Amino acid sequence: MSRKLYLDNAATTRVGKEVIDEMSKYFDEFYGNPSSQLYELGRRSKEAIERARRTVADFINANEKEIYFTASGTESDNWAIKGVAFANLNKGKNHIITTKIEHQAVIHTCEYLEKFGIETTYLDVDKYGLIDLEQLKEAIKAETMLISIMFANNEIGTIQPIEEIGKIARDNKILFHVDGVQALGSVKIDVEKQNIDLLSMSAHKIGGPKGIGGLYIRRGTRIDNLVHGGAQERGKRAGTEGVQNIVGFGKAVEIVKENFDSNIERITTLRDRLIEGIKNNIPDVVLNGHPTKRLANNVNFSYKYIEGESILLLLDMEGISASSGSACTSGSLDPSHVLLATGMDHGTAHGSIRFTISEETTEEDIDYTVETIKRIVDKLRAMSPIKNDEDLKKS
Ligand SMILES: *Cc1c(COP(=O)(O)O)cnc(C)c1O
Repeated sequence: MSRKLYLDNAATTRVGKEVIDEMSKYFDEFYGNPSSQLYELGRRSKEAIERARRTVADFINANEKEIYFTASGTESDNWAIKGVAFANLNKGKNHIITTKIEHQAVIHTCEYLEKFGIETTYLDVDKYGLIDLEQLKEAIKAETMLISIMFANNEIGTIQPIEEIGKIARDNKILFHVDGVQALGSVKIDVEKQNIDLLSMSAHKIGGPKGIGGLYIRRGTRIDNLVHGGAQERGKRAGTEGVQNIVGFGKAVEIVKENFDSNIERITTLRDRLIEGIKNNIPDVVLNGHPTKRLANNVNFSYKYIEGESILLLLDMEGISASSGSACTSGSLDPSHVLLATGMDHGTAHGSIRFTISEETTEEDIDYTVETIKRIVDKLRAMSPIKNDEDLKKS
């Protein structure tokens, strides 16, 4: 009971001491406005921003001139999609292709653009959450200006064939935007190899502070500004830079980069231990997402006959933080749009729980989680009227 176990790292992550120490200098020591280039204090801030920009650029194989800092992953998604849409307005290009399993930042932006006569095709996914490349090719029209597809899904962890999608976009001269928020730090991103034109990133999903994101914009891409004002970010994104946040983002990327391969390998092993533990100890469960093409830290199961919300409450009482879908949709009674898109029925979708582990998670944590979720599921099922009905039918 005294145990506290945070297994919701897809929602946000802890900011490490090294990151906080680096950031803190930019509150009271180097607090200059980076636009004030006529004195040392301002230049210090500017230099710190440019250092972070290079770090982020290197990490995704981009040029530093192609990285723009924003206030969040959400803003980056909004900018990429609205920016391209508005740059193409009245130019005969009014069609976007995306998927049914995108983050709300993408889906709600596309819905908003309908007001401006912009149409969106939402691609289906299979039971694992993968899109069909043939369906993508068929959806392309002469009016298509943008394909926006997430690298990896935040709920079920499925990783899309980004390089192949990028090639299709490139062959058809269509811009390719990728919501890379969940993939950053977990999957190798290479904007050149993967033919990505626009990539959304967010610091707080990789051990950085909240309220800072990035957008990679390939040089030469026609895109309107989202935020208008001063000349910050080379005239493309106005507003005094959140210097300390940008510094924190850069430091977080540096840390993730350090032991990337060994960390991912270790987390993957723990993920698989959790998946096997749940599968082997609890009957009537469904693993959501792809068995292998999935994020290293994502474990999402549906537990039949019971409600995810009840499981979450009991997990919380045992000190375990998890999620029953994306944090943005919890609080609503509709089951996750992602699970529904995979063809899952409402009842089963309601019983889903996502655990997302981190480099701080240990083997004992995993075993404790298996044992705890088993105990909780057994208890809830014993009280479940649906489960009792199913048992009656069988007997
Ligand atoms: C978290 C998340 C976002 C939003 O990023 P914020 O920085 O929290 O606004 C967008 N897309 C995906 C896939 C995410 O997981």
